[in-house]
Amino acid sequence: MKDCLFCKIAEGEIPSECLYKDDQVYVFKDIAPQAPVHFLVIPRTHIDSAACIGAENSSVVAHAFEVIARLAGEQGLDGFRVVSNVGESAGQTVKHLHFHVLSGRDMTWPPG
Ligand code: AMP
Ligand code: ZN
Repeated sequence: MKDCLFCKIAEGEIPSECLYKDDQVYVFKDIAPQAPVHFLVIPRTHIDSAACIGAENSSVVAHAFEVIARLAGEQGLDGFRVVSNVGESAGQTVKHLHFHVLSGRDMTWPPG
Protein backbone atom coordinates (compact mmCIF):
# COMPACT_ATOMS: atom_id res chain seq x y z
CA MET A 1 0.00 0.00 0.00
CA LYS A 2 1.32 3.41 -0.98
CA ASP A 3 2.57 5.58 1.88
CA CYS A 4 2.54 2.73 4.41
CA LEU A 5 5.74 2.60 6.47
CA PHE A 6 5.61 -1.15 7.08
CA CYS A 7 4.79 -1.96 3.43
CA LYS A 8 7.93 -0.01 2.53
CA ILE A 9 9.97 -1.88 5.15
CA ALA A 10 8.66 -5.24 3.90
CA GLU A 11 9.60 -4.26 0.35
CA GLY A 12 13.07 -3.11 1.40
CA GLU A 13 12.43 0.52 0.43
CA ILE A 14 13.12 1.59 4.01
CA PRO A 15 15.97 -0.13 5.86
CA SER A 16 15.34 -2.35 8.87
CA GLU A 17 17.15 -4.98 10.91
CA CYS A 18 15.58 -8.05 9.36
CA LEU A 19 15.51 -11.22 11.45
CA TYR A 20 13.49 -13.39 9.09
CA LYS A 21 11.40 -13.18 5.93
CA ASP A 22 9.48 -15.49 3.68
CA ASP A 23 6.74 -15.14 1.09
CA GLN A 24 4.12 -14.24 3.73
CA VAL A 25 5.77 -12.42 6.62
CA TYR A 26 8.65 -10.07 7.39
CA VAL A 27 10.28 -9.89 10.84
CA PHE A 28 12.47 -7.01 12.01
CA LYS A 29 13.75 -5.36 15.18
CA ASP A 30 11.66 -2.56 16.65
CA ILE A 31 13.44 0.78 16.27
CA ALA A 32 12.50 1.78 19.84
CA PRO A 33 12.73 -1.47 21.83
CA GLN A 34 10.61 -1.73 24.96
CA ALA A 35 12.43 -4.83 26.21
CA PRO A 36 15.84 -6.46 25.64
CA VAL A 37 14.15 -8.50 22.89
CA HIS A 38 11.58 -6.60 20.81
CA PHE A 39 10.82 -7.50 17.25
CA LEU A 40 7.84 -7.03 14.95
CA VAL A 41 6.16 -9.61 12.72
CA ILE A 42 4.19 -8.19 9.80
CA PRO A 43 2.33 -9.67 6.85
CA ARG A 44 3.97 -8.70 3.56
CA THR A 45 0.60 -7.73 2.13
CA HIS A 46 -1.12 -4.76 3.68
CA ILE A 47 -3.75 -5.37 6.38
CA ASP A 48 -4.76 -2.35 8.47
CA SER A 49 -4.98 -4.11 11.84
CA ALA A 50 -6.22 -7.21 13.66
CA ALA A 51 -9.71 -5.76 13.30
CA CYS A 52 -9.50 -6.53 9.58
CA ILE A 53 -8.85 -10.27 9.85
CA GLY A 54 -11.39 -12.47 8.10
CA ALA A 55 -11.61 -15.80 6.33
CA GLU A 56 -9.88 -14.31 3.29
CA ASN A 57 -6.67 -13.33 5.09
CA SER A 58 -6.53 -15.22 8.41
CA SER A 59 -4.03 -17.82 7.18
CA VAL A 60 -1.21 -15.26 7.39
CA VAL A 61 -1.97 -14.83 11.10
CA ALA A 62 -1.57 -18.56 11.73
CA HIS A 63 1.67 -18.46 9.77
CA ALA A 64 2.89 -15.43 11.74
CA PHE A 65 2.38 -17.33 14.99
CA GLU A 66 4.23 -20.36 13.62
CA VAL A 67 7.14 -18.05 12.81
CA ILE A 68 6.95 -16.43 16.26
CA ALA A 69 7.11 -19.84 17.95
CA ARG A 70 10.05 -20.90 15.82
CA LEU A 71 12.04 -17.69 16.36
CA ALA A 72 11.33 -17.76 20.10
CA GLY A 73 12.65 -21.31 20.21
CA GLU A 74 15.74 -20.46 18.18
CA GLN A 75 16.45 -17.45 20.40
CA GLY A 76 15.90 -19.52 23.56
CA LEU A 77 13.18 -17.23 24.88
CA ASP A 78 11.65 -18.92 27.90
CA GLY A 79 8.90 -16.34 28.25
CA PHE A 80 7.66 -13.73 25.85
CA ARG A 81 4.67 -11.53 25.16
CA VAL A 82 2.89 -11.10 21.81
CA VAL A 83 0.95 -7.84 21.43
CA SER A 84 -1.07 -6.34 18.61
CA ASN A 85 -2.45 -2.86 19.23
CA VAL A 86 -5.65 -2.07 17.34
CA GLY A 87 -6.71 1.53 16.92
CA GLU A 88 -5.31 4.73 18.34
CA SER A 89 -6.93 4.29 21.76
CA ALA A 90 -5.06 1.00 22.14
CA GLY A 91 -1.78 2.58 21.06
CA GLN A 92 -1.58 1.61 17.38
CA THR A 93 0.66 4.13 15.65
CA VAL A 94 1.38 2.26 12.40
CA LYS A 95 -1.74 1.22 10.49
CA HIS A 96 -0.33 -2.04 9.14
CA LEU A 97 -1.01 -5.21 11.15
CA HIS A 98 1.96 -6.12 13.31
CA PHE A 99 2.68 -8.40 16.22
CA HIS A 100 5.14 -7.12 18.80
CA VAL A 101 7.23 -9.89 20.38
CA LEU A 102 8.78 -8.77 23.68
CA SER A 103 11.07 -10.70 25.99
CA GLY A 104 14.11 -10.51 28.24
CA ARG A 105 12.58 -8.78 31.24
CA ASP A 106 9.76 -9.37 33.68
CA MET A 107 6.39 -8.18 32.36
CA THR A 108 3.60 -6.68 34.40
CA TRP A 109 -0.12 -7.24 33.96
CA PRO A 110 -2.41 -5.56 33.12
CA PRO A 111 -0.63 -3.50 30.46
CA GLY A 112 -1.08 0.26 30.69
P1 AMP B 1 2.30 0.35 17.41
O1 AMP B 1 2.53 1.60 18.22
O2 AMP B 1 1.68 -0.79 18.15
O3 AMP B 1 1.57 0.67 16.13
O4 AMP B 1 3.74 -0.18 17.02
C1 AMP B 1 4.51 0.43 16.04
C2 AMP B 1 5.94 0.10 16.36
O5 AMP B 1 6.72 0.35 15.21
C3 AMP B 1 6.54 0.90 17.50
O6 AMP B 1 6.98 0.02 18.54
C4 AMP B 1 7.71 1.64 16.83
O7 AMP B 1 8.84 1.75 17.67
C5 AMP B 1 7.98 0.77 15.64
N1 AMP B 1 8.60 1.44 14.50
C6 AMP B 1 8.23 2.62 13.95
N2 AMP B 1 9.02 2.91 12.89
C7 AMP B 1 9.90 1.89 12.79
C8 AMP B 1 10.98 1.60 11.90
N3 AMP B 1 11.32 2.42 10.89
N4 AMP B 1 11.68 0.46 12.09
C9 AMP B 1 11.36 -0.38 13.10
N5 AMP B 1 10.34 -0.17 13.96
C10 AMP B 1 9.63 0.95 13.82
ZN1 ZN C 1 1.17 -1.55 4.81
